Amino acid sequence: MSVIEWLKDDPSANKKDREGKKRASISKWLKGEVGINTEAAIKRSFHETSIGESDVQISIRNIGKTYVKNGVETKAIDEISIDVRKGELVSFIGPSGCGKTTLLNMIAGLLPPTSGVVYVGSKECTGPGRDRGMVFQDFALLPWRTVKNNVELGLEIAGVPKAERSAKADEYLRIVGLEKFANSHINELSGGMKQRVGIARALIVEPDVILMDEPFGALDAQTRNLMQTQLIDILKTTKQTIIFITHSVDEAVYLSDKVVVLTKRPTTVNEVVEIPWSRPRDRTTPEFNEMKREIVAYLEHENVLVD
Ligand code: ADP
Repeated sequence: MSVIEWLKDDPSANKKDREGKKRASISKWLKGEVGINTEAAIKRSFHETSIGESDVQISIRNIGKTYVKNGVETKAIDEISIDVRKGELVSFIGPSGCGKTTLLNMIAGLLPPTSGVVYVGSKECTGPGRDRGMVFQDFALLPWRTVKNNVELGLEIAGVPKAERSAKADEYLRIVGLEKFANSHINELSGGMKQRVGIARALIVEPDVILMDEPFGALDAQTRNLMQTQLIDILKTTKQTIIFITHSVDEAVYLSDKVVVLTKRPTTVNEVVEIPWSRPRDRTTPEFNEMKREIVAYLEHENVLVD
């Protein structure tokens, strides 16, 4: 029996034994005592075990991306590995052009990685799926549809019967505080309201994870702060897992459980900063500002101007 078979399939071994064997094998692998194919399989086996036994919802493993355009190669992402747990809000912050949108699109399954794997739960991501919802900076709403019809869109595409999707849309409009605007048209809404439609549209299909690409970047400072508070309120109800791209250190510290600070291109993880406080948070405390300073220092190390 191969190393991998007993790592994964030994029914006689109890969990403790398997853990011990797994650690021994990984230790062998680290010492270079096993071949390259075995190395990949152990990585995968380790991943499957950790997914099965934990609440990891998105696992980014050694992801890299090189674009080739007109024969010119641009290495956007060198290598990123990170786990996002159920109910966590993890934000990625980094220099402009470092590859944040590229990373998000690979997690969404819209862009194939050059190397590495994204797992959604225990499944390898091979394309877009209902398990991942998206919220875009420019809202990407359909202006010819009402607010409610925009929110219903994902369920409509999935063939959910009209009465059922109407009831669900009412529920999610309530969650984002737009129930009174169900029949309004998109051009009648403020920017913040439009983005709440975008959030409801993503939430309604009840995805495992929502991917947000600078969702409040197009809003003025006051609306942006309001939207952050409203997002926190929404999360109290939905406990949604979120991956959040931002340029704002303040926003990252206000919202996140974990802030992943990226290096400049070709990108890798500079630092993962855990934010240990429950939400909502007070932006005016010395601790909050100290946390911001810490993240700014990592970014300044990358010669990044921050807001
Ligand atoms: P960010 O979101 O951090 O601003 P992006 O992910 O948009 O960065 O882009 C990362 C790098 O990859 C940039 O240098 C960008 O010019 C390059 N890039 C993005 N998309 C493409 C593409 N389709 N073809 C070639 N290069 C691209």
